[in-house]
Amino acid sequence: MKGRPDTGKGQCFFKNYGRKVPLEWIPYDRTPVYDLDSLAQEVISEMFGGSFDGIACYQWTDKAYKGFFGRYFHESRVIEINSVLNSKDVDKKYIKYLLYHEMLHRDYPRHDAAFRELEHRFPDWEQCDHFLDSTMNQFDIKEW
Ligand SMILES: [Zn+2]
Repeated sequence: MKGRPDTGKGQCFFKNYGRKVPLEWIPYDRTPVYDLDSLAQEVISEMFGGSFDGIACYQWTDKAYKGFFGRYFHESRVIEINSVLNSKDVDKKYIKYLLYHEMLHRDYPRHDAAFRELEHRFPDWEQCDHFLDSTMNQFDIKEW
């Protein structure tokens, strides 16, 4: 998938809904496809020269959520990615971009200038940002 997500009729359909919607209305195939550990390994070799320690585990959220794409827990050193994105309709580079973002939080707790400078080394980061923003904002729902 390139650029703006192809949501078809789902886009208009979801816009006016502020409540939970049935799973079958989500315009994605949400059969889980991605293994976060192997995607994290790709990020480590592509962005960190093959070595990045200190993350206890990479895991998908138990459910799909609105409100965040990924998060890093400083105490437990766990990186969690929103399972709404675990779909063949979401290119793996967007997942890798999120993993990279959360991994940077190991050393940079805030989105300050130093953080952004590193973040923007990710190939196609602007397109990734755009994809993520335009994908999640279509759904006026909290959780499903
Ligand atoms: Zn962040």
